[in-house]
Amino acid sequence: MILTARLLLPIAGPPIVDGGLLIRDGAICAVGKASALIRDFVTEPHDDLGSAVLLPGLVNAHTHLELTGLHGRLPLGKSFTEWAIALLDLRSELDDEFFATSARAGATTLLRSGVTCVADITASGSSVAPLKAAGLRGIIFQEILGPHPEQATERLDAAEKALRSLQLQAGGTLLSVGLSPHAPYSLSEPLLLRCAELLRRLRLPATMHLAESPEEVTYIGLGIGPIATRLLPAVGRHSPSHRVCGDSPVAFLDQAGLLSDRLLAVHAVHVGMSDLQLLKQRGVALAICPRSNQSLMVGTAPLARYLAAALRVGLGTDSLASNETLSLWDEMRFAHRLYGGTVTAQQLVTMATLGGATALGMAGVIGSLAPGKRADLTALTIDRLDDADPYGSLLDQASDDLVVLSMVEGKILYQREGTRCNYH
Ligand SMILES: [Zn+2]
Repeated sequence: MILTARLLLPIAGPPIVDGGLLIRDGAICAVGKASALIRDFVTEPHDDLGSAVLLPGLVNAHTHLELTGLHGRLPLGKSFTEWAIALLDLRSELDDEFFATSARAGATTLLRSGVTCVADITASGSSVAPLKAAGLRGIIFQEILGPHPEQATERLDAAEKALRSLQLQAGGTLLSVGLSPHAPYSLSEPLLLRCAELLRRLRLPATMHLAESPEEVTYIGLGIGPIATRLLPAVGRHSPSHRVCGDSPVAFLDQAGLLSDRLLAVHAVHVGMSDLQLLKQRGVALAICPRSNQSLMVGTAPLARYLAAALRVGLGTDSLASNETLSLWDEMRFAHRLYGGTVTAQQLVTMATLGGATALGMAGVIGSLAPGKRADLTALTIDRLDDADPYGSLLDQASDDLVVLSMVEGKILYQREGTRCNYH
């Protein structure tokens, strides 16, 4: 089929006014001017999305879909530690039914907002089924944590078992599986070392919250602060579960052997210049979550520095336990205001598409509209389009309500009522 629209943003190349795509067998076969495609492939069915903007499907590089139902139930704007303790308390009351319902709601919301690929962390294992049912692409990471060194073997065995279950469930889908050691402060040092060994042995992708809060920096470096005195005692740990030697969270993880080109580090708010060089040297990718950072008052990630250093950087919403919506359009708009002139609208749209795909190791498959890539895309209608600044126009106006189409592997998985696109 040929799919055309008022504006096509290939991302890896310049915008095409009155552009289109030739899609066959779930792949993009040609990209160009609509008129040329219609002329060159005369027998091909053609659908026109009218005034819409067509772009690659968005990649949400960090979610916990099983927590979607926690929207509005946690104290935001107080402190990271108080929020984390409240989450621990609340989480202990939740059951598998809650997680499954949350994950279903989250998967539906992603598709309706133009997300076609997601990096999701699950502790309960409940996100595979809804993501599979929705037809989304992505990586599901099994969460592992445990601050008591004596529990390392037991926790690792349980995680390996959960990983095998996720792999079985994900078979034959567009989902792959990885491991998520939760954060440097929530795993004991022996467990971190065991995770590093497991990741090397199984060659799995990994994701980890890293350098998120000032509390984490103080705890990892000095073994003191609210994580030592409030958060860990809440789970029965009364002394640091790692060697305290003044390291930053990034340097500490490097010592533990966890920094690699298969790691997607999430947040990366407190990263100095030597840490940045270490991340670059090890090939670590980043997922930046500006609104979650703002909600938890942990600071602002040095995004312009990461982009200037050509790190692989994607954009994530995090969960609704620390954010208002799962919309990457909301995230991009917020980031555009937050970073002012230091990060452009084009850079943000690129992060939410090709950047996320690159961070997840999927840039050969998705992330841009180019021949040979899979046909994962989205379209949205905006009122005013400035051809000289299409990315700025998008971020000025875009919202989930304007998304008209989400497609994965050439299949329409979401289409707004009234949208004229007949292809299935
Ligand atoms: Zn998170």
